[in-house]
Amino acid sequence: MTSSDRQEAPGRILVVDDDPVTGRFLTNLLGAGGGFDVTHTLDPAIALQRASSEKWDLVLTDVEMPGMTGLELLQALRRVSPDLPVVVLTAHASLDYAVRALRDNADEFLQKSTPPDQLLASVSSLVAKGRAARLAARQAVLAIGAHPDDVEIGAAGALLAHRAMGHEVSILTLSRGARGGTESTRAGESEMAALALGATLYLEDLQDTTIKEGDPTIGVISGVVEAVRPTVIYTHSLHDVHQDHRNTHRAAMVAVRKVGRVYCFQSPSATVDFRPSRFVAIDDEVERKLMAIRAFASQVEVRAYLDADMIRSTARYWSRFGDGQYAEAFEVIREAATPAAPPAGPAPGVAAARPGGGPAVTLDGGAGPAGQPPEPARVPGARPEVPDAAP
Ligand SMILES: [Zn+2]
Repeated sequence: MTSSDRQEAPGRILVVDDDPVTGRFLTNLLGAGGGFDVTHTLDPAIALQRASSEKWDLVLTDVEMPGMTGLELLQALRRVSPDLPVVVLTAHASLDYAVRALRDNADEFLQKSTPPDQLLASVSSLVAKGRAARLAARQAVLAIGAHPDDVEIGAAGALLAHRAMGHEVSILTLSRGARGGTESTRAGESEMAALALGATLYLEDLQDTTIKEGDPTIGVISGVVEAVRPTVIYTHSLHDVHQDHRNTHRAAMVAVRKVGRVYCFQSPSATVDFRPSRFVAIDDEVERKLMAIRAFASQVEVRAYLDADMIRSTARYWSRFGDGQYAEAFEVIREAATPAAPPAGPAPGVAAARPGGGPAVTLDGGAGPAGQPPEPARVPGARPEVPDAAP
C-alpha cells in the first residue's frame, strides 16, 4: 500500500465464479489472507450490474460461466468502468483464452493452479496500482458562492463541462439568501439547481449581507475544503460591488490556499475591473445552465440579472476571447497542480495569503484579454493544451 492509501478502507474485490467452492476459497484467501473486503457472486450479470453502480478496486472473474463468459464480462466491464482492474482466472490453460483476455485488456490472466501466495500478491499489486492511478487522475471541483444562484450564474457552464469529463463537482453556498426570499424556498431552489448540474450542494447558514471576510466564513469554507479535497476552485472575484462577494473571495483565498487551481467568476455585480484571462466555451452547456438558473423561480420574476437573455448575451460576448458561440470568463488566481491529499492544518500567514482589499489582486494568469492569448483548454484538469496563436 502506498502512504496515500493509509486512511482508505480495505480494497473492495468482486469475485465472479459460478462455482461456490472456488468462490469460497477466493473469498477466504483474499479476505482473511489479504485483508480485502470481498464479495462473491455466482452470476456474471449481477456482477456487471454491481460493477457499474458501486465502487470496486478489482474484479476477479472465472472464464466459463453460464449466461455470460468471463471474457464477455471483461468486455462489458471495459465499457462501463474502463479503469477498473480485472483479473481473469481460469481452470484451463488455454492459450486461446489467454490471448483473448489480454486482447480485451485484462490486467492479469491467471490459472486456478497458481499458488495462493502468488495470486494474492498479483491482486494486491493491482489494487494498489489502480488506487494510485485513480488518486492521481482525480479532479474535484468546488465552486464557492455567497448566495443562492451566485455559482450558477458565474460558473454553471464550466461546472457542467467538468462533470462531462467525470470530475466530481461540489457547490458551497454560504448563505440561504433570506433577504432575497424565504429561506426554505431558496434552499429548495439551490438543491434543484445543484441536481441539474450533477453537483453536491453544501448549503451553509451565514447571514446574508453580513458575510465576514474572516471567521466564521474561513472556518466554514475550510470545513468543506476538508471534506471535498478540491483540486479546482471557482469563487467570486474581488472586483465586485457586493460586500458579501468580496468577503467570500477574501475568506476563500485563505481557506483554499493549498489548492492549485483557483479561478474567479463574474457576478452580475462585478465591476469593470473584472479582467478575465480564461474563457471556457459552454456551447454544449448553455441550455442546461439556463435550466439550473430557472430553478431559482422565486427570484427570476424579480431579478433582471437572472433573465435568460442577459445570461446568454453575456456568454455570447465572452466567446469573443475563446472558442465557440458561448463562453464563461474567469480571472485566474493561480494554475498549479494540487498535491493528491492536501494536509490539514491551521492557517499560516493569513495576512500574506489575503489580497488586501485593493484592486492589486495578483492574477497569476497574467494580463487580461488584450494582453494574453486566450487558452483553448476547456476546463482546468483537462490535459494541457497548446495555446492557439494570438487572436
Ligand atoms: Zn450574490
